[in-house]
Amino acid sequence: MKDFCKIQFLSPRKQICVRMFFMLRSIFILFFAFLCGCSSEPSKLDSWMTSNGKIKVLSTTAMIDDIVARVGKEKIDTITLVTGDIDPHSYELLKGDDEKLQFAQVIFYNGLGLEHGASLRSRLENNPRAVSMGGFLQQKHPSSILVRDNQIDPHIWLDVALWADIVDPIVEALSKIDPSASAEFQENGQVVKEEMLALHAQMMDQLAKVPDEKKYLVTSHDAFNYFSRRYLGGQDRFHAPEGLAPDGQLSSHDIQRIMDLLNRFRITVLFPESNVSKDSLKKIAAASSEKGTPVKIVGEPLYADALGAPGSDADNYFKMMNHNVRVMIDAWK
Ligand SMILES: [Zn+2]
Repeated sequence: MKDFCKIQFLSPRKQICVRMFFMLRSIFILFFAFLCGCSSEPSKLDSWMTSNGKIKVLSTTAMIDDIVARVGKEKIDTITLVTGDIDPHSYELLKGDDEKLQFAQVIFYNGLGLEHGASLRSRLENNPRAVSMGGFLQQKHPSSILVRDNQIDPHIWLDVALWADIVDPIVEALSKIDPSASAEFQENGQVVKEEMLALHAQMMDQLAKVPDEKKYLVTSHDAFNYFSRRYLGGQDRFHAPEGLAPDGQLSSHDIQRIMDLLNRFRITVLFPESNVSKDSLKKIAAASSEKGTPVKIVGEPLYADALGAPGSDADNYFKMMNHNVRVMIDAWK
């Protein structure tokens, strides 16, 4: 403060420089204090890795984690392995993932080939603590599991009525670890299932109102077969240039195949996905434009393999499905 008082004796130019120096110093001190404050709070991972009497649950995807958290509530501590926009199909273990997989008392994963990155797959297969959601559904409803080009389609979460059944293996696995909370898990599970079935009925109603001639879905990768079968009136109402896992590889044959469909069904909109490059759709849009039949790429993405960022309108499973339906209905108007 003493130094600051002396600046009135300096030239105006020097006064500005000194004032700026003090201002920047204050900002730096505040920023440093903010960082220190943040680092003194334990991160979600740190508190998950600390024993506290709660069941430690690891889910491979956020779509599983959201349902697990609603069933276990305060009796469990959950984290997700594949976070943000990362592609779960090809996910390979990162530094620290092995510790999470070892520390978890139970691991819930999608299965049906979704987690096909070799390092992750090897930790899930034959792991007595790992429970496959898809494996359970495949056993319970074998005919509901779709196969595309001799490959099982893993995108089961996009059919809400089917996904609601994953509540059962979650309740069972949590109850096995904490039998004293079994009734609570069952009760929570029942509530979650009812909420999911209500969401399912609402989606059916909303999409039934869209005229059939508009209801053709074209996205980047082959994720919406279950969705299309359940909510659009058949799998043949959904098409994508890329396969069951996004690969970014697009041949002229792929482009022509989609363009033929656009022409045949008079499709005028393409839907990008939140965590897949728009390149394939841009190539199709450019080729269509050249042929004089322009198509539009919708401004808002659909969420297929990942939830939206925290705070977005798709940051949990229910919101993700509502978002997708809203974006489709708006684009098909
Ligand atoms: Zn996918």
